[in-house]
Amino acid sequence: MADRKEKAKPAPKTRETEFGGPVGALFITLSLPLVMYYINLACTKAKCSILELPKMPKNPWILFDMEATLLFFGWLAFQAVLALVPIGRVVDGQPLQSGKRLKYRCNGFFAFVASVIAFGICVYFNVPLVKMVHAKFYRIMTSAILFSFILSIFLYIKERAVAASQLAPGGNTGNALYDFFIGHELNPRIGSFDLKFFCELRPGLIGWVILNFVFVLKAYQDTGAFPPALTLVVAFQTLYVGDALWFEDAILTTMDIIHDGFGFMLAFGDLAWVPFLYCLQPRFLLDNDPKLAWYSLAGIALLNVFGYMIFRRANSQKNDFRKNPFHPSLADLESIPTSSGKRLLVGGLWGMCRKPNYLGDLMMALAWSLPCGLTLIPYFYPVYFAVLLVHRERRDGAQCQKKYGSSWNRYCERVPYRIIPYVY
Ligand code: NDP
Repeated sequence: MADRKEKAKPAPKTRETEFGGPVGALFITLSLPLVMYYINLACTKAKCSILELPKMPKNPWILFDMEATLLFFGWLAFQAVLALVPIGRVVDGQPLQSGKRLKYRCNGFFAFVASVIAFGICVYFNVPLVKMVHAKFYRIMTSAILFSFILSIFLYIKERAVAASQLAPGGNTGNALYDFFIGHELNPRIGSFDLKFFCELRPGLIGWVILNFVFVLKAYQDTGAFPPALTLVVAFQTLYVGDALWFEDAILTTMDIIHDGFGFMLAFGDLAWVPFLYCLQPRFLLDNDPKLAWYSLAGIALLNVFGYMIFRRANSQKNDFRKNPFHPSLADLESIPTSSGKRLLVGGLWGMCRKPNYLGDLMMALAWSLPCGLTLIPYFYPVYFAVLLVHRERRDGAQCQKKYGSSWNRYCERVPYRIIPYVY
């Protein structure tokens, strides 16, 4: 380790902070878990209203117990074992500052299928685990929140004690609070096991689908049927997660992997926020289905399919283009050169707006909430997601401006709309 410390190049200091600097980081760190409790406790079988303060349990220990904690750790361990199975391609990451590329085993889709099969087996053999997950939803959520705090503290301390091979370009300000939040080390690993890559797509995303399946199963056990709206939304979200895992290697070129360290922001987002908030619409539909007419559901399904097509096509075009700009399937797409040698797509979907992939993603987000009718809380996801993607688009734009200089300005003149053509 000492040898590693000597060889590591001094990491450049992060000069510009985001999210309001250390004060903003502290505020977000403390407020996000509260938002999670607020939203989830405000939407129960008895009522679902953002205006009425949710009833806090008299005994807060009702939000935590050992069984739920064991269940959560069991799930993490199961996913870790699946991630180690030598199935699937080993893919090179983007070059690091040192020029080195890390290797990543991409078997996320295998882990997804194996998890769904394991769930099916548990259901078939009536394993009480499934019942427990529904009954202990809040308690498992608490375990996930606590663990994401513990993990981020561990990651920060680990990095301070043992110099990393590379610090995150965005998380090396020297301010402990801010670096803890953004993530100090870029690619924390235990041997070849990459903690960030693992958490980004496995326990949280697959866990979200399994939670959804638990809600569908509960509806079936209660009513003897699969409620159409609930089943539809769960099918949409399963497609979304399946897609992310099928194209798992695409994550290796995202900001999360290349720029941000692994700190509280990603650990909490991946392990707690995504699984326990993104399942809000299915959880709502289980208890409060407004029973929309079939033609409304058909219209919503069309919106989701259309959104998915835009999302998938845009992401595939950009990934194929980055891998091989001369790919025959992209021959019709116009692109412009930049000072760095890389080109930027300005044809097809990428000529309509700068983030057609975000547009498709937002259409799907809306399609997941519309089946919930006129109740406001299930719209939390599309509203929050729009704020996230607008912020992310600006963040990415600022980084592209640094990367491409005046070529980026020419690109922005050529493609003036950011996410929604003619609107934004
Ligand atoms: P992008 O996939 O848009 O990647 C941004 C990068 O793409 C830029 O830094 C630039 O990198 C390259 N790029 C930008 N414009 C062009 C262009 N015109 N031609 C070629 N390359 C271009 O963003 P994200 O990584 O944020 O998102 C990936 C996917 O994940 C999206 O579909 C998004 O909707 C989804 N997402 C989902 C979230 C969720 O919680 N459900 C959260 C965040 C994202 P370079 O030039 O260096 O290659």
